[in-house]
Amino acid sequence: MEKYIKTTTCTMDCPDACALEVTVADGKIEKIAGARNGHPTTGGFICSKISRFAERVYHQDRLLYPLQRSGPKGSGKFTRISWEEAAGEITRRFREIIDEWGGEAILPYHYGGSNGLLGDAFLDHYYFAKLGASRCQRTLCAAPATAVATGMYGKMPGVAYEDYPQAKFILIWGANPKVSNIHLTPFLKKAKRNGAFIAVIDPKLNFSSGEIDLHLPVFPGADLPLALGMIHFWQANNLLDSEFLSQHALGAEILLAAAREWPVERAAAAAKVNAEDIARLARMYAESAPAALRCGWGVERNRNGGQALAAILAMPALLGKFGAPGGGYTLSNSGAAALDQAKIFGNCSWSTRQINQSQLGQALNDPRLQPPVKALFVYNCNPVATAPDQNAIIQGMLREDLFTVVFEQVKTDTALYADILLPAVTFLEQREIKKGYGSYVVGGVQPVIPPRGEAKPNEEVFALLGRAMDWPDEPFYWDTETYMQKTARALSLNGASANPATFLEGKIQQYDFPGTTPVQFKTVFPRTADGKIHLAPAALGKRPFQYDPVEEAQYPLALISPSNSKMISSTMGEYNYPELFLTIHPRDAAPRGIREGDTVRVFNELGEVICPVKVRENVRPGVVSMPKGAWQKSSRNGRTATALCPATANEVAGGACFNDARVEVEKTVLLAGE
Ligand code: SF4
Repeated sequence: MEKYIKTTTCTMDCPDACALEVTVADGKIEKIAGARNGHPTTGGFICSKISRFAERVYHQDRLLYPLQRSGPKGSGKFTRISWEEAAGEITRRFREIIDEWGGEAILPYHYGGSNGLLGDAFLDHYYFAKLGASRCQRTLCAAPATAVATGMYGKMPGVAYEDYPQAKFILIWGANPKVSNIHLTPFLKKAKRNGAFIAVIDPKLNFSSGEIDLHLPVFPGADLPLALGMIHFWQANNLLDSEFLSQHALGAEILLAAAREWPVERAAAAAKVNAEDIARLARMYAESAPAALRCGWGVERNRNGGQALAAILAMPALLGKFGAPGGGYTLSNSGAAALDQAKIFGNCSWSTRQINQSQLGQALNDPRLQPPVKALFVYNCNPVATAPDQNAIIQGMLREDLFTVVFEQVKTDTALYADILLPAVTFLEQREIKKGYGSYVVGGVQPVIPPRGEAKPNEEVFALLGRAMDWPDEPFYWDTETYMQKTARALSLNGASANPATFLEGKIQQYDFPGTTPVQFKTVFPRTADGKIHLAPAALGKRPFQYDPVEEAQYPLALISPSNSKMISSTMGEYNYPELFLTIHPRDAAPRGIREGDTVRVFNELGEVICPVKVRENVRPGVVSMPKGAWQKSSRNGRTATALCPATANEVAGGACFNDARVEVEKTVLLAGE
C-alpha cells in the first residue's frame, strides 16, 4: 500500500488558517490532522469539521462532471456534458443576454471566505468585469465590520492569539471561539490560569462557569446601547484616557455625546441585562491592563450592528489600552497582508451597478429592476441556504427566463436550481495561497490528491470561460503555477515580500512586525490616511451611534442563527447536519406548552420552519436560536433559518441583518401545507 503525508493549509472561512498534515493511502485521504510544529496556533489539533472533510471529498453528492439541467427547475435532474459544451453554452447564453439586455443583466453571485487568494476576486473579477456584468456587493458577512474597522483604524493588525495569556482582562463580544475560532481557546485557558478576568457578551452562553467570570446575555441588536452605557460609565467616573485621545483620535466628541444619552440603567433596560453587571464590567475593563477585546462578527448581524461595532472598537482607544502585548483589540487580522492586484492583472476597472447579495430575492423578483437579472452565476456560495429571505430567493431561482450557472463542490440547495452545474475542486485537490485573518500566517495550499472526476479550480474555470469568449488577454492563458508565482510576488506581508516557493510546498510564512506578533501602538499603528483613529468614521452615515430597536408585537421572540460546531457557513451541511432544531428558553417554552423534543412551527410574515425543539437555559429568555447554514433537507418542511430572516440592509455597508428576525413559535404536529 502506498502511503504518504502531505502538508497543506486549511482554506475554510475560519480565522485560524491551520497547517494540516494529510495522510493519503492508496490514493485516498485517510486522515486529516493538525500540524504539531511550524505554525503559531495550530498546535497539533484541528476542528472536527475538517478532520471529517474527506466525507465531503468523497460524498455521493459530490459534483464530478459538468451537468446540464434535464428536468424542471429545482428538480435536481441533470445530464452529464463536457467542459467544452458547458463553456460553449454559458458563452452563447451570456452573449445573447448581453446583446438584448446589456452586461449588467448578468449577476455573478459569490462569497469568498473558504477560498484562497486565487479563488475569489481574482480571475473571476477580471472575467466578469470584461463582460460588463453587475457587481455583487458582498454583505452576508463582515461588510459592516470591514467598513468600520477600515474607517476607524485602517485595518490595523490586532492582538495576536498568542498574546492573550498576557492580558489581565479579556472581553469577548459577539464571538464564539469554541466553534469558529478554536485556536484562541488554549490561549484563553492560559490567560485564565494566569489570573485574567474573562467576560463574554452574547445572547447565548457558550462557556462553562469555570471558563469565564461574567456573561452578559445582551438582547440581539442591543449591543449599541450596552456599549454606549459602558462609555457613559467611563465618562461619569473620569476613566477616559484624555491624553491618548487628544494625541491619537478624532471624533471622540461625537461618540461621547451619543454615550451621554445612555446612563447605565437606560442601557441595561434596552440590552435587557443587569445594570450592576454593566457597571462591574466597565470598571473591570477600565482598571485592568493589559486588556484585550475580542470582537466577533456576531455583533454586526442586525440593523444597529455597524454602529455597535464602532462603539465597541472605540473602547481600547477611549481607555488607552494599547501599547503592550495582550492590550488592544482583535477583529480581523487580514489587513496585515496586502495583495496588489494591479501587479497581476494591470489596471482593470469595473464600475457597473452593485447588487446587494443579501437582497438576492428582491433582485430576482423586482419587475422594476432595469435591466432585470437574466443570468446568475453562483460560485463560492450557497444563497438558498445562507442568504436572507429564502422563500423569495427560491421563487426567483424558479424563473424560467433566468439562466443560472452554479459552480460548486457538492449538490447544494442552490445547485438544484442550476441550468448548468460546474464541478469545483475542494481545497485538498488544488494549489492556493491562504491568508489567515486570525492567525498571523499566509499558507501555501497544495493538492494532496488529484482533482476528483473533472472538477476544476476557480482560476482554471474562469480562464476557460475567457478563452471561450475568444478574448486574447494573457491572464486567460496562464496556468495555476503562474498565478501562484504572480500572486506571491504581488503580496506583501506587513510590507515584506512573500516567497512563492514556500507556498508551492504547502508551507506557511509568518510576519515580522518586528517579531511574529504585532503590538498595537508599538509595532503597528492605524493605517488610516492621517495615521489617526477615527472614532466616528464616515461609514456610520448621517446618524452615528443612533439606536434603532426592532419592535414587532406580533412576533415577540428574537431569532438568532449563530455558527455551530458542524458547519462552516453551509459547508459540510450535506453530511454533518442531519436535523435542524430550535433552541428555546424554558420561560418561553412553558407558556406555549412546548416541551423538549416537541415539533414546533417557527413563523413570521416571511415564512415558517418546522423542526424539533430543545428547551435550554443557555439561550436567554425572549430569544430563540437556530443554527446558521443548515440545508433544506435538515428541516421537516424544507425551510431553514434564513426563511425567517428579513432582507433589510444595515446602513453601514449594506450588511445582512439576520438577527433582526422576529418570530413566534407554536407546538405543531402538522407539516407545512397539511
Ligand atoms: S476550519 Fe479552522 S480550526 Fe478547522 S482546520 Fe480549518 S482553520 Fe483549523
